[in-house]
Amino acid sequence: MKKRILSGMRPTGRLHLGNYVGALENWIRLQDMYFSYHMVADWHMLTTDLKHTGDVAENSIQVVIDWLSAGLDPKKSPIFIQSHIKEHAELHLILSMLVTVARLQRNPTVKEQARDLGLEAQMSYGHLGYPVLQSADILVYNPHAVPVGEDQAAHVEITRELARRFNHIFGPVFNEPETVLTRFARLPGLDGKKMSKSMNNAIFLSDDPKDVQKKMMTAYTDPLKIKKDDPGHPDGCVIMAYHKLYLPESAEEIECDCKAGKLGCVAHKRQLAQKVSSWLEPLHERRTYFDANRDEVIDIIKDGDMRARKQAQEVMGKVREAMQLG
Ligand code: AMP
Repeated sequence: MKKRILSGMRPTGRLHLGNYVGALENWIRLQDMYFSYHMVADWHMLTTDLKHTGDVAENSIQVVIDWLSAGLDPKKSPIFIQSHIKEHAELHLILSMLVTVARLQRNPTVKEQARDLGLEAQMSYGHLGYPVLQSADILVYNPHAVPVGEDQAAHVEITRELARRFNHIFGPVFNEPETVLTRFARLPGLDGKKMSKSMNNAIFLSDDPKDVQKKMMTAYTDPLKIKKDDPGHPDGCVIMAYHKLYLPESAEEIECDCKAGKLGCVAHKRQLAQKVSSWLEPLHERRTYFDANRDEVIDIIKDGDMRARKQAQEVMGKVREAMQLG
């Protein structure tokens, strides 16, 4: 019997290359090693986007189409929508009694978000507690591991604490899930900062070759390399970071050429644009198929919901029994 893992993403819009290398690529690799549950975390949109709930259902379907296009196999791994499985909310309520407000206020990710969004004084009770909902999302499938980026590792720690605390009070129900850290932590965007939907620096999985080419031409390279034959400094260069990822076999040689002033940035950008576009081609073919066959996508979600619900109900049965409740 394979071990279980749970992973999820919020339906914030189209996915980009950073989401692929930081999350999806790992999910695809792991689905052969583990029994993987893949969740569209739509309730988590309420923490920051409460006024736009009308967009959530369509965005959730778009995320699933991106996942399927990238290579997630719903036969191996159920793909489901968090809000369709009400057991998450029940477990969230129970876990919320096992954590102190002070512990949540210490959480570095929530602190950072509060500062970035200017929410310090008016953060909602639900937003402060989103790591508890995340813990419920995980523990309701009682997985053995959770694949996450470094930025989310602190939340798995809260999940492990909550599992321990529950087991200590009510008896052993939950595993303490391990963290499986993702292989490539952070892909830079076109401006050299972390690639992100909100920063206008992303290449999306759905971008066509023209868009890729146009965007790649704006990428940040070495500001000291003005003419083609100036010697370059590839360390901070975005195109070089993409080269290492998409053309690893020639990265070393190209780095030498760049340093020796034998390679111009424009030619290098063209080469990478072409490479990324041809890498995206099979994803686009699958996206076109799923866009034209939305019924199939809905059926995949219904099937995933059913399989996820079965597991969640089984775990909640054990929780209620251990607590002598409900
Ligand atoms: P987000 O939509 O920003 O919450 O990201 C969804 C997933 O993609 C998370 O697991 C992130 O860690 C990962 N991710 C987002 N942006 C990047 C990036 N630029 N490089 C690597 N991973 C990323």
